[in-house]
Amino acid sequence: MNIGFLKGTSDAKCPIAPDLIRKYDGIGVKILAEHGIQEAAHFDISKYDGVEFAERSKILSDSEIVYSSDPLSPEELAQIKPEAHFISLLEPYNKPEVVAQMEKYPFKTFSMDMIPRTTLAQSMDVLSSMASVAGYKAVLKAAEMLPRYLPMMITAAGSIKPSKVLVIGAGVAGLQAIATARRLGAMVEAFDVRAASKEEVESLGAKFVEVEGAADDKDAGGYAVQQSEEFIQRQQAEVQKRAANADIIITTAQLRGRPAPKLVLKETVEKMKSGSVIIDLASSTGGNCEVSIDGETIVHSGVTVVGNSSLADHMIQDSSILLSNNIFNFVNIMVKDGQLHYDEDNEILAKSKI
Ligand code: NAD
Repeated sequence: MNIGFLKGTSDAKCPIAPDLIRKYDGIGVKILAEHGIQEAAHFDISKYDGVEFAERSKILSDSEIVYSSDPLSPEELAQIKPEAHFISLLEPYNKPEVVAQMEKYPFKTFSMDMIPRTTLAQSMDVLSSMASVAGYKAVLKAAEMLPRYLPMMITAAGSIKPSKVLVIGAGVAGLQAIATARRLGAMVEAFDVRAASKEEVESLGAKFVEVEGAADDKDAGGYAVQQSEEFIQRQQAEVQKRAANADIIITTAQLRGRPAPKLVLKETVEKMKSGSVIIDLASSTGGNCEVSIDGETIVHSGVTVVGNSSLADHMIQDSSILLSNNIFNFVNIMVKDGQLHYDEDNEILAKSKI
């Protein structure tokens, strides 16, 4: 059987890292790949026998499993075999219309962003993989833009104080940002609303800023729940108190299927020191910062504000390796003895199927 990988347009990551080619062969799956798919990630996969490069139409019509990071046109979807599995990242929680669109086709559609947050599914969790890379890269980007050191420096010409980093949202991206900023010697404070996050933040050597009265998240499957207007206002005030001293703010607070909470107000940005940097990783879902613009870097009253939720793409080789591993681990649960096998009792397949 074949797995066909289509080249992304909005997403240049390569879903076939060289180490995975042998693994696909081991489970009896041959790889069809669109020409040029490996270029952005700098993978030299053309030298492997296990990969056949092909045109999109051949990939669509000859594959039992098709992977595309982009949504496909109706004309392309119509070329997929009726018995095939189509794998993508379709965000049905943000775009509910996608469910009805995909139900029109006879093949099975799986959206990897719907994989549940369970221990068994961790190795397939693309959202966590990309969030982790983005959190790391956000700190490096901010450090690069900041006109100051991150660590304390004692030199013959005098001492430099360490920078202060404020991380809002201590999930996968936020915890990686905290760890990276700590490694670079910054002082770090962090906010979150999930009960579990305090201990995680403190174990990384950062200070957890507690805002009393957060809504309970224990039944939300690892995701945060929406907070009351009154709680958000108290949180905005706490952020504002700390922002005046912060050199870098990294925001990652997201709510699945809802706009991101606005936690850094315009007036908060205006209270920050000139030269400070905000990286808004939640910008694609409306942003945590009132002035950030998705996909743009702006300067607001001397503060550089980067709106970018795709920072994983700025470290494309390693994010491609993680993506490739996630996809292989997912494919591995839908293939048995070299044949497609859909086990409806498998929670990961059932929850990610549209
Ligand atoms: P996310 O991207 O949905 O949100 C990022 C963070 O923002 C979360 O920690 C959330 O609590 C926080 N947030 C939301 N509203 C906020 C507000 N008003 N103020 C401050 N923070 C706010 O979440 P994520 O980073 O993908 O994951 C969150 C957690 O879920 C992880 O830390 C992890 O413990 C768990 N998780 C588990 C698995 C698994 O077991 N397979 C996989 C992924 C994540």
